[in-house]
Amino acid sequence: MEILKGTFAFEGIVVGRIFLDKKELSNKGITALLDEREIDGEIERFRDSLELSKESLERLKTSLAGKIGEKDLEIITAHLMILDDPVYISDIEKYIQKNRTKAEDSVKIVTDKYISLFNKLEIPIYRQKVLDIKDVEKRIIKNLNSKKNEWADLNGKILITEEILPTELLNMCQENIKLKGIVMEYGGETSHLAILAKALEIPTLMGIKNIFSYDWKKDVILDTTEQNSCVIIEPDEKTLEEYKDKIEKFNCKREEIEKSAFLPAVTLDGVNVSLNMNISGKTTKEEIDAVTPDGIGLLRTELLYMKNNSFPDEEEQIASYNDIIKNFDEKDPIIIRTLDIGADKQLPYFQMKNETNSFLGLRGIRFSLSEKNIFKTQLRAILRTAYGRNVKIMYPMITNINEIREANELLKEVKEELRQEDKKFKDDIEVGIMIEVPSAVMMADAFAQEVDFFSIGTNDLTQYILAADRLSETVSDMYDSYNPAVLRAIYIVKQAADKYGKSVSICGEMAGEQKAIVAFLSMGITNLSMVGGSILAARALVRSLDYTSLKNVKEQILQCSDSNKIKEILKKYI
Ligand code: PEP
Ligand code: MG
Repeated sequence: MEILKGTFAFEGIVVGRIFLDKKELSNKGITALLDEREIDGEIERFRDSLELSKESLERLKTSLAGKIGEKDLEIITAHLMILDDPVYISDIEKYIQKNRTKAEDSVKIVTDKYISLFNKLEIPIYRQKVLDIKDVEKRIIKNLNSKKNEWADLNGKILITEEILPTELLNMCQENIKLKGIVMEYGGETSHLAILAKALEIPTLMGIKNIFSYDWKKDVILDTTEQNSCVIIEPDEKTLEEYKDKIEKFNCKREEIEKSAFLPAVTLDGVNVSLNMNISGKTTKEEIDAVTPDGIGLLRTELLYMKNNSFPDEEEQIASYNDIIKNFDEKDPIIIRTLDIGADKQLPYFQMKNETNSFLGLRGIRFSLSEKNIFKTQLRAILRTAYGRNVKIMYPMITNINEIREANELLKEVKEELRQEDKKFKDDIEVGIMIEVPSAVMMADAFAQEVDFFSIGTNDLTQYILAADRLSETVSDMYDSYNPAVLRAIYIVKQAADKYGKSVSICGEMAGEQKAIVAFLSMGITNLSMVGGSILAARALVRSLDYTSLKNVKEQILQCSDSNKIKEILKKYI
């Protein structure tokens, strides 16, 4: 028996047969050179496979509509755009013509050039692009060979693989192939693949290094619960017995979660917890109604700017914000965060200065204050959207008090302009800041006197406190939000806010994690904002906790100096 630990994307416990996917993706070298007379036919064959690829993606999109969220289907649109990219297509055609290589080889060689170009750019956003283009490449090559359904053998099995691409997963879903689980080497917990695995509810374990160096036997136990996250190769009788029990308990818990979907998020001793949703783009009414959030705790506005060809104007922004918030009641709190561009989030139409370390460079509020007209347009749009609604405004990446003052000064100016223009807007809008850097923690008591609320961004706070890049796989072990330094920082912020009667919420990924919810409630933080997919489980957990008795948990975790011990303490409550 061997136990391999990893990180989970979707929780579950399954026992089953494995499917080892050792397929070779690497270059096998050029297969054969074409005769001059074959070139036109080969280009034709390539074009046919492009058409087939597009048709199959369109079919996939139609058949999955309604089954998985609109947001998750955007990946198909991205792939269709690559298949329509005139530069990419003509590069391949020219390659076939010039080098007399077969379509398969030409697709591979040209695509590899793009991949190595994107990799060299070292801009994290291009990592997703690399996956997209790899995925498209495989689809074109598959259609060149028009292979039969290669997934049939996978039905009901646990896939062991280096990496599976998002549309491969979507294809299986379309072909009604039901994977029992996935174990993979690739470790991107926040990748599109992890998000899809969650949407398709497949227990998924990520980050098993050198996955094919293990002696995989036929059957495994795959445990992707937050408590364990491991795969057990060749489990012994005793372990199998124990797992029968664990599976039963897990299923009971899941039923509880489903039952509590429309019940209030109140602890056993009657404390209300506000569970809000993080939204980045268009989200349908069905997606929202399925989890009934109390409001939007973080509306990231970057996507609206990123998908455009130029900075969105005031009216375009108002339409876009209204489109998102129309699915909520007028009284529901909606926190719109001003543009948090820079670092991993770049605009295609605005060339940022090259910085050695862009995460420490011009991002968030720093960018907005350096481009005042762009910032003022957004402030006007938010103020006008907020009219008659419970909309609040939030500034990201605040590191010093002057940034708050300068931003508020601009807000005042913009209000005056709107007044002069006789435009309707929310004059008494609440203003808050994100706490995501160490200086904001240290200065929280001073900042609390300047704003109405704090929202703690644990994604960035963790990376800046621990000096560990949130996107790097190399230091992913160090990027640990349960590090006592992070938890102590959160508590310092809570105390500072309490002193001045200001509210605190959490809006980083951690807000949706079960262990973290126990920690936050123990510190008296009862306002959380998370991805929609975590809300039901969070609600069920809140309903099972006794708020008063969690006070001693706070004492215990704040005294701990080891994150593993902290996790052990918190695990007991979930
Ligand atoms: C955070 O840093 O925790 C946060 C919520 O902001 P983002 O993930 O958009 O940087
Ligand atoms: Mg952040």
